[in-house]
Amino acid sequence: MSAAVTMDRFPTQLVIQGELCDAASGATFTVVNPATEEAIAHVAEGDASDVDRAVRSARATFESDAWRDMSARRRGELLYRLGELCLEHKDELARLETLNNGKPVFESLIDLKLTAETFRYYGGWADKIHGETIPVDGPFLNFTLREPLGVVGAIVPWNFPMSLAAWKIGPALACGNTIVLKPAEQTPFTALRMAELALEAGFPAGAFNCVAGRGSVAGAALVQHPDVDKIAFTGSTEVGKQIMRDASGTVKKLSLELGGKSPNIVFADADLDAAARGALTGIFYGKGEVCAAGSRLLVEESVREALTGKILERAGRMVAGDPLNPKTRLGAIVSKGQMERVLGYIESGRREGAALLTGGERTPVNGKGYFVAPTIFGDVEPGMTIAREEIFGPVLAMMTFNDGVVGAARLANDTIYGLAAGIWTRDIGKALRTARAVHAGTVWINTYNMYDVASPFGGFKQSGFGRDLGMHALQGYSQVKSVWVSL
Ligand code: NAP
Ligand code: MG
Repeated sequence: MSAAVTMDRFPTQLVIQGELCDAASGATFTVVNPATEEAIAHVAEGDASDVDRAVRSARATFESDAWRDMSARRRGELLYRLGELCLEHKDELARLETLNNGKPVFESLIDLKLTAETFRYYGGWADKIHGETIPVDGPFLNFTLREPLGVVGAIVPWNFPMSLAAWKIGPALACGNTIVLKPAEQTPFTALRMAELALEAGFPAGAFNCVAGRGSVAGAALVQHPDVDKIAFTGSTEVGKQIMRDASGTVKKLSLELGGKSPNIVFADADLDAAARGALTGIFYGKGEVCAAGSRLLVEESVREALTGKILERAGRMVAGDPLNPKTRLGAIVSKGQMERVLGYIESGRREGAALLTGGERTPVNGKGYFVAPTIFGDVEPGMTIAREEIFGPVLAMMTFNDGVVGAARLANDTIYGLAAGIWTRDIGKALRTARAVHAGTVWINTYNMYDVASPFGGFKQSGFGRDLGMHALQGYSQVKSVWVSL
């Protein structure tokens, strides 16, 4: 371990019932810094028994007077305070995220800001969630109560460990639920740290528990647990399908934010410099480990050469670097396994006959790390593996279309996914016609990868259902009770 790394305090214990604890079995798993390939910590590896303890704790708190009697306004204040604590610990959290995930600290600070905003935004919502009175027939008063679900299990992936957890914790707590969070085994640090900070903010013990562990063990136990009311999941479509099967035994409520193969569509009349910039940030931000990554660049045939030239010129200037350096804009792939998966997809692109225009290989920094060069394939056919499957890495597949909006939409929608889409054109009518024609939960026009805590995010088709963020997320963490009163 390097001197810089040993100065860090890594959160390594589970947070259950307000206490930091080891796993009941005593097991731990090793966390690796993907930029250096060094083991940096051993984290408690929770299993079904730890999940059970955390769920009991969350249930007991949910039923407790301390939680029931707490006003919605007070809950909102605690959430707001949690957001402030994230900001007070911003350098620590960003550094943990970067050491853990390999993303540049520049990006971790952006995630941190969104995380803090998420807690503060939902803190603002807490005392504005309410039912309505309904004008029914007859001598009755009918009104609705909007109630929490109970215990929410949140399962999140490794690409945005901090902000994706906040997207679930914020609305869940605002609505009055209690939580068991299961981070990805590669990236437990910031999730565990946020659970600690929630205690410091003043949340009662058991309101926000965090159990690190393996998905197939701790994650599956949470999904199957009879006393969990809802699973809020972000991750792969494959695991999302497994969760649907496992949740059916107890008819749990679900929200699933799954994979994507999002089209970034460039029409011939676009500002090609802006489109080239957007194409690159669309796929290389977050090393392409972004569910909404613009991994398919669909270019109108007549500007293919012009756009390709601009993109390659810019891509040539993108070099991976030490993620802890604030100037670095391209970090390390999260793990050896993921790097190998990405390199496997690059190999399949070559084998199936796509033209490798740039990148295509591992590029260690200072001789180490799971770095992959920004990779761009041209001449991609819609049937190729790299055009169909989510790679979740810095690999762009370029395809061309004709026939304007119709041709663009046909190609854009030729996927099982429907998470996001980008559209580049100077013609506002064409942009809006295309926005209506693409099947995607988020559409960006002349921009890409924009997020705001107030704007809903989620998938069409096999990219999932339910929405994170905005007022829309509140629906997923509350239920309506209709009350009749005879007059
Ligand atoms: P993943 O394998 O689906 O894992 C996501 C989470 O689920 C992890 O915490 C994982 O635990 C857990 N898990 C795995 N198997 C489980 C099971 N049988 N029951 C319950 N939980 C289980 O995804 P990933 O490898 O972390 O991330 C990459 C994928 O996530 C990509 O396909 C990407 O598209 C998708 N993603 C989607 C969004 C979105 O908003 N739509 C955002 C980010 C990522 P362990 O990893 O600890 O085993
Ligand atoms: Mg996984």
